[in-house]
Amino acid sequence: MLPFKQMIAPRCVRTVRIAWCGAVFLALCLATSLPSEAQIQSEISAINWPAYQDEAVRLLQDYIRIDTSNPPGNELRAAEFFKKLFDDAGIPNTTYEYLPGRADFYAVLKGDGSLRPIVLLSHMDVVRAQPENWKEPPFSGAIVDGEIYGRGAEDMKDQGLLNAMMLLIASREHPPLRRDLIFLATADEEVSDTGSQWLIDHHPELIRGAEYLITEGGSNLITPDRGLVYGIDVAEKAPFWLRLTATGPGGHGSIPISDSAPNRLVRALNRVVNWETPVHLLPSVEEYFHQIAAREPQPLAAEYRDIRRSIKDPSVLRVISADPNLNYRIRDTVSLTGLQGSPQTNVIPDTATANLDVRLLPGDEPREFMRELEAVVDDDHIRVDPITTFRPPNASPTDTALYRVIEQVVHEYSPQALITPELDSGYTENQMYRPLGIVCYGFLPVELTPEVEATEHAANERIPVEQVQRGLKMLYEVIARTADQ
Ligand SMILES: [Zn+2]
Repeated sequence: MLPFKQMIAPRCVRTVRIAWCGAVFLALCLATSLPSEAQIQSEISAINWPAYQDEAVRLLQDYIRIDTSNPPGNELRAAEFFKKLFDDAGIPNTTYEYLPGRADFYAVLKGDGSLRPIVLLSHMDVVRAQPENWKEPPFSGAIVDGEIYGRGAEDMKDQGLLNAMMLLIASREHPPLRRDLIFLATADEEVSDTGSQWLIDHHPELIRGAEYLITEGGSNLITPDRGLVYGIDVAEKAPFWLRLTATGPGGHGSIPISDSAPNRLVRALNRVVNWETPVHLLPSVEEYFHQIAAREPQPLAAEYRDIRRSIKDPSVLRVISADPNLNYRIRDTVSLTGLQGSPQTNVIPDTATANLDVRLLPGDEPREFMRELEAVVDDDHIRVDPITTFRPPNASPTDTALYRVIEQVVHEYSPQALITPELDSGYTENQMYRPLGIVCYGFLPVELTPEVEATEHAANERIPVEQVQRGLKMLYEVIARTADQ
């Protein structure tokens, strides 16, 4: 049922017998050609970081100044910005203008090919902004009190620019690369994902062999009660929107009809909203509870540490179900969001409808869910129909080299941080890339307060300069170390 297939990198099986002296020679060659972790560390420390950090801040301001509000997007202008950066650095790149003004951008810094590539994915479009609600114009990239203002400062021009810096720095500093570093910037994520869809449909070969992909989705929050918690997005739920249509005799509102369409619908919806969907505990959610236990008081801490056992206790399940931020992680959820009957108060309509925003966990089957829901509705005058195309949700395992490197680097920079695998309640493009056999995570080493994070998609979107500078170095450590193992 669960899609947590452990993705094991293919290993070369050598059947050729190597003579003893040959083996010694090979070991010597490997020892000299593969630098140790300590060596990579010291090479990273020797880099002139302040210069790169200044460059990153300046370029992020420039990138924010390119208005890629979607609609209409105009991502071609952002692609041209990246083209200049990569051309100047001598890094091969291609712009794919798949519709007038709409483009995806791809660049690759070649490794020695002994390991599979890592993809750094970002979207270039941003949501629209109402300038009148902003302290600084949304496309100014202004720095005020140590924070860079602008639409996309968090979602996700910050990550796009830091991704570009990874290739630029690596092309100048020449770290040992056993993997290709792929920079991919797409159009239209905020509206309908046509950029990623076009690339997957027309040029899957660009990313097909990749082992890892990093994009948006994670978040690292500093809160007074929990301290610093890094959430690495490893899975997302999938929308499965449904419409209930009830039918029954219509008539005049002055003469009530007991089994009218609205009455049937309301009775069924009463059952639906009170329905506790079954608990499905994913391995990453189990790990999430295990990690956050460290910040909880007893007896909650002990219960979270062994959630698979403790959730069978109805009182523990009640506590978790009552917390919306935990409830969505353990089950498929149903939100009643739309109701429609008659437009006229004195008319009993012969049809009434309700819309449900259903979100399924990775591994859960939409048909199976429909059957369960129909059993709860339990009325043969009510039809249940999907109203969107369903994309199956998926997940990536946490026992990978990349996840381990992320944990190591975060703990080195922020020893007080708690690191948890996150199940996103919403949707990210990770879901489109995992079916290509790529381990996909949402991760960016930028630490924010909830107050600053809440400006994403809102007025005064911003990011602290110091977080861009620190995040640049942290991300480089993650990429350089992963590119060598
Ligand atoms: Zn985004």
